[in-house]
Amino acid sequence: MVLSKTASETDVSVHSTFASRYVRTSLPRFKMPENSIPKEAAYQIINDELMLDGNPRLNLASFVTTWMEPECDKLIMDSINKNYVDMDEYPVTTELQNRCVNIIAHLFNAPLGESEAAVGVGTVGSSEAIMLAGLAFKRKWQNKRKAEGKPYDKPNIVTGANVQVCWEKFARYFEVELKEVKLREGYYVMDPVKAVEMVDENTICVAAILGSTLNGEFEDVKLLNDLLIKKNKETGWDTPIHVDAASGGFIAPFLYPELEWDFRLPLVKSINVSGHKYGLVYAGIGWVIWRNKEDLPEELIFHINYLGADQPTFTLNFSKGHFSNPISFIRKLTTLLFLPSSNMYIYISKPTLKLCYVCLQVLAKSLLSTTN
Ligand SMILES: *Cc1c(COP(=O)(O)O)cnc(C)c1O
Repeated sequence: MVLSKTASETDVSVHSTFASRYVRTSLPRFKMPENSIPKEAAYQIINDELMLDGNPRLNLASFVTTWMEPECDKLIMDSINKNYVDMDEYPVTTELQNRCVNIIAHLFNAPLGESEAAVGVGTVGSSEAIMLAGLAFKRKWQNKRKAEGKPYDKPNIVTGANVQVCWEKFARYFEVELKEVKLREGYYVMDPVKAVEMVDENTICVAAILGSTLNGEFEDVKLLNDLLIKKNKETGWDTPIHVDAASGGFIAPFLYPELEWDFRLPLVKSINVSGHKYGLVYAGIGWVIWRNKEDLPEELIFHINYLGADQPTFTLNFSKGHFSNPISFIRKLTTLLFLPSSNMYIYISKPTLKLCYVCLQVLAKSLLSTTN
């Protein structure tokens, strides 16, 4: 099924500007060609077409920054032929993923004992992470309702109307009603007071965003937590919180360490974060971390044994290549967090944010002058 439109839909052939006899006759664009062509010619044709894409280094609009150090390219290319769903065959890659999960869980203040392992998985990005977190909340809520002999067919989730599209996707794909807190003039994130008012016995969780997609603003997770604790006490429910820290999870711990938004708040049961929203990491990596083992229902974990020993997985995919591999991220973490100095990330992030703020003010000024 082709869902996207491209510029070339009407032209059924691919024409080449080269004189090689292999490309002198044009190739069909939408059908398999009758004859083969040499790999060099195929490479040239595809490479030339791709030149019409934008230049990623000049792309300041999309979420990802697509430059990485040559050492990362080397690590990725050295491992690009591994299908790392096979944890038996590639135990070191699995170990690196686990280290990432633990590093991030500690960064987000998960209540872990000295030698206790964190609970979480690497994903393709925050979208997959949010699907998994949402499924865990839904299943936990269903199990509780079933045990109480109550109906469990109308789950809902409370978010701000500023949520990223993946929450709508989760709601539609997994049949959960999305209850959105409306934004209002001058307040463009979820209002915790209104969110808690919307919570009912069918609410599987309230999702707060750390770094709203619309304006980057952090929602007040602490206030949400406090209000929800009160409501839970009054009603006897135990509505939990998920924090979508896709674009704030690697900013807040460094720049605002005092801000309580993570597992320090008791109702925060899971957090997702994207690896690729901060620059210097190729697209294709994110994580979801759970507070405790109990927050991820055991029945969602699949145990696969036909690739060797027992392998527990919780993922929407199976095969996975190295673009969504923790290696590149580990490399970034080690460069930015540990090697030069532990303050390096702060050193880089602070002026970057300052610059963003200056740009914001200039933009706001020029917008105001056009509307006046
Ligand atoms: C970008 C974003 C997502 C989706 O993240 P991907 O890693 O691109 O899948 C989810 N939530 C928020 C708040 C985001 O900014």
